[in-house]
Amino acid sequence: MQAGNVDGEATRSDDEPREKCGVVGVSLSDRDAARPVYYALYALQHRGQDSAGIVTHDGFQQHDHVEMGLVGDAFDEGDLAELAGSTGIGHVRYPTAGSVDKSCAQPFSVSFNSGSLGLSHNGNLVNAAGLRDELARLGHAFTSDGDTEVIAHSLARNLLDADLSSAVEQTMRRLHGSYSLTVMYDDRVLGVRDPRGNRPLVLGELDDGYVLASESAAVDVLDGELVRDVRPGEAIVLDADGQGYESVRLFDLETTAHCFFEHVYFARPDSVIDGTLVYEARRELGRALWRESGIDTDVVMPVPDSGRAFASGYADAASETGADVEFAEGLMKNRYVGRTFIMPTQDERERAVRLKLNPIRSTVEGRTVTLIDDSIVRGTTSTQLVELLRDAGAESVHVRIGAPAIVAPCYFGIDMATREELIAADRTTEEIRETVGADSLSYLSVDAVADALDETRDDLCLGCVTGEYPYDVDGEATDRDVSRPTVGEPAEADD
Ligand code: SF4
Repeated sequence: MQAGNVDGEATRSDDEPREKCGVVGVSLSDRDAARPVYYALYALQHRGQDSAGIVTHDGFQQHDHVEMGLVGDAFDEGDLAELAGSTGIGHVRYPTAGSVDKSCAQPFSVSFNSGSLGLSHNGNLVNAAGLRDELARLGHAFTSDGDTEVIAHSLARNLLDADLSSAVEQTMRRLHGSYSLTVMYDDRVLGVRDPRGNRPLVLGELDDGYVLASESAAVDVLDGELVRDVRPGEAIVLDADGQGYESVRLFDLETTAHCFFEHVYFARPDSVIDGTLVYEARRELGRALWRESGIDTDVVMPVPDSGRAFASGYADAASETGADVEFAEGLMKNRYVGRTFIMPTQDERERAVRLKLNPIRSTVEGRTVTLIDDSIVRGTTSTQLVELLRDAGAESVHVRIGAPAIVAPCYFGIDMATREELIAADRTTEEIRETVGADSLSYLSVDAVADALDETRDDLCLGCVTGEYPYDVDGEATDRDVSRPTVGEPAEADD
């Protein structure tokens, strides 16, 4: 199914999960931060395309520019020139909570008695409504319906009578859900990762400062060096002069809940997340897929671009076992079709995949084909791709998926689909195979995912593939103790 409920309106291809948001924070010794933040946001554009914003501080006052649209459209030279100051934070947004308008675009700015605050958030709180009511009763006026403003007000309130790290700790104690934040408090920038580390956040070093970002690709684009991941429950405060940083481990839980889907789908393949290069993780998942459900066919081909690394790992593992398998591109992508189309009718919406992908007949005709992808959400795209390959003359089409079946929605900042829309929510693999029209279909097991990512199941969020969540979500099962985290001993500044 393709999205867009209103005939004739621009609509998105929605048979795929949507990225959440990307956050950045920069502190430099002797130049303005706006341009590096802008470049870093470019590197994170895949994490959100609806709005982009930057907040800077020049030592006296805060400056901000937030606009709807892509990074390249949201800023011009004049906007960047007005964003003075050597510290800044930035954000790209795909709305997973709150409205699709400028009121929810970020960074979110608040001025209050003891200073000014800017806040960029990636993730989703599961207790935002309760916190909002509580703060509203205390007199806080909200201008948006998003959960980020709730965090900003909560932090601003705690800063009235506590120092920065105590205020962050008190705020984190009340937040429940997934969040990686970059925060601008006057001219200081800090990065915070939730106690279970659901969303990624890394620290990088530049020649003249430090950067915090959702993914290491944003550090690379600034010619920086990746220092390390921000640890779950850790706050990193960058010195305002770009000379160093302080690390405070505010929470230290026994288990983490890294989103495994970052490795499978969301993050850039050239990013390193929680110590693993995403491209290699995807290739390893592909290898595991061959070991679990490899099938001899003439050709192995990826769904571009999402299945490419999986298919390359799968084909490598196949040839290591002596299988005579060709790895080839059998579907060509039209690079100029973006994420939105004008689709006047339902019928045309359903044919949207033909706008995006065209089979290479010579690779496919008269041959047995294994088609590799990273996920099946609603099943519409897979059905259309199998049909495309059969129309192009494939003798048989076998589908292999480099992740387990998505059986439940995500509550932590990823727009998957509703439970009713997920093809695997109430169907067996055999029923899905029949629906998509493949000759065979296999998913990767949950254990293989944990092995490939070199994590235990307890340290991953697998909610959307097991239906058991690492946070306390109303009406859903949980796979661990979700009592509020206890405060750990503050750690020393360590590197
Ligand atoms: S439910 Fe799935 S997509 Fe959502 S955070 Fe967990 S693993 Fe990631």
